[in-house]
Amino acid sequence: MMVTVLGEGIDCSICLSNFKIGEEAKEMFCEHRFHSICNDRSLRINGSCSICRYKMLVNEQ
Ligand SMILES: [Zn+2]
Ligand SMILES: [Zn+2]
Repeated sequence: MMVTVLGEGIDCSICLSNFKIGEEAKEMFCEHRFHSICNDRSLRINGSCSICRYKMLVNEQ
């Protein structure tokens, strides 16, 4: 799901750069947060969180 970053100190788990306040992040069920760009790249490859390998239900075609 997409969440809006409301505080500082949150990193993208993939590229490790900080989110800016007000930026949109994609939050996984495992609570890892990514830029949607970083996340999309990872999901297309293995369909799971690339950090902890939490399996996502992917219903994009
Ligand atoms: Zn990122
Ligand atoms: Zn994860």
